[in-house]
Amino acid sequence: MKVLILGSGFGGVVAAERLAEQLGDEHQITLVSRSRQFVFYPALVRLAFEKSEPADVSFDLRHTMLNRRINFIEAEVAHVHPVERSVTIANGQVEGRLPYDYLIFALGRRLATERITGFYEHAHHLLNVDKAISFGNAIKKFHEGRAVFGQCPGARLPVPVYESAFALARRLEEKGERERVRITVVSPTTLESEIVDPAGAAALKKALEAHGIEFLSNLSINSLTQNAAITKSGDLIDFDLLMLVPPFRGSSAASYLGITNEDGYIHVDSTMRVNGLERIYAVGDCVNFDGPKMGHMAVRQGEVAAANLAAQIDGRAPVSHYQHEMRFVVDEIGTDSFYVRKDLSTDEPATVRQGRFWSWAKRVHEKYWEVTHS
Ligand SMILES: Cc1cc2nc3c(=O)[nH]c(=O)nc-3n(C[C@H](O)[C@H](O)[C@H](O)COP(=O)(O)OP(=O)(O)OC[C@H]3O[C@@H](n4cnc5c(N)ncnc54)[C@H](O)[C@@H]3O)c2cc1C
Repeated sequence: MKVLILGSGFGGVVAAERLAEQLGDEHQITLVSRSRQFVFYPALVRLAFEKSEPADVSFDLRHTMLNRRINFIEAEVAHVHPVERSVTIANGQVEGRLPYDYLIFALGRRLATERITGFYEHAHHLLNVDKAISFGNAIKKFHEGRAVFGQCPGARLPVPVYESAFALARRLEEKGERERVRITVVSPTTLESEIVDPAGAAALKKALEAHGIEFLSNLSINSLTQNAAITKSGDLIDFDLLMLVPPFRGSSAASYLGITNEDGYIHVDSTMRVNGLERIYAVGDCVNFDGPKMGHMAVRQGEVAAANLAAQIDGRAPVSHYQHEMRFVVDEIGTDSFYVRKDLSTDEPATVRQGRFWSWAKRVHEKYWEVTHS
């Protein structure tokens, strides 16, 4: 059988690796992605604050994939043709249509910066290695004024916002420059809905207060000038330094297939099969689950899809179900760094743990990925 996996982020890489472990040599596994570089996104805040090097956060996937007998094709996915069971790929090593028997869609999501006028001209962001480095250069030159960190509506990525605000506060505290800078975090919702849990939100609120970081809720930024963010209701938030997570939408390669919600996210069931299409699974940021979009969710969904796809090839019923759970560490707060874990399918309260250990645990996780994939 030919198994095609689209996208080599956390979801696609883990799905490919698990399939290589579970399928015999008679099956062909191919991973198609626009870049051979894997980026470990959770480490980009540390890169911006000079606590890691570019080589620690990004590596070439081709050799690891080949060692695991996965073909890697560096190319752009243009169209999926579910009836013909093929995918059109362009601008890469191979061009044309690739046939498949089974497909895993793991293309992440696309920036919707067109919704924020002035985003590219006036905001820093952390969505690739070069941009993290350029944000880092701006931080080095920043000694006084107001720094604003925030998410746009539809960003669903709170962790780097808080980590950047805490990292800046601590850097300025160490240099004795803290009182010259006002640090503001702006949210389109509230702390409780960003962290999805009252206990997690309370821990975060306490840490923000301890570092003198102000929090502004229910402000939807929708345009930027050189020194101000303008909200939907016309409020102006002035800044001297701005790091913003832009809005996102689902991948455009799925948008015409009739399988997505209004934001372009793909409907799947708990086995990670795409609703309404045969032999297609989807995993990671591209799928339609509530709450933040996180790497550990993509990893778990990749494992579930691989197990069920291998079972389907064998003619067996699904063997694994995805349980929607949120787990994250907010690092860069020193002894207050904290971990939140919550089952998003129930109303059970989250588990919240605090202490320097969680900073260390996040770094160990990063190292583990680097060692096992580069
Ligand atoms: C700064 C930052 C910090 C973060 N911190 C955390 C954290 O602390 N904890 C956590 O759990 N998560 C964190 N995340 C979120 C996490 O990185 C994402 O949830 C995760 O990367 C999603 O994995 P994915 O495989 O679904 O998608 P992606 O990682 O986006 O991978 C998608 C892949 O598809 C490829 N692709 C896309 N479109 C095409 C196309 N048309 N043709 C060919 N290839 C294409 C891309 O090049 C990429 O290889 C963070 C993200 C950022 C940006």
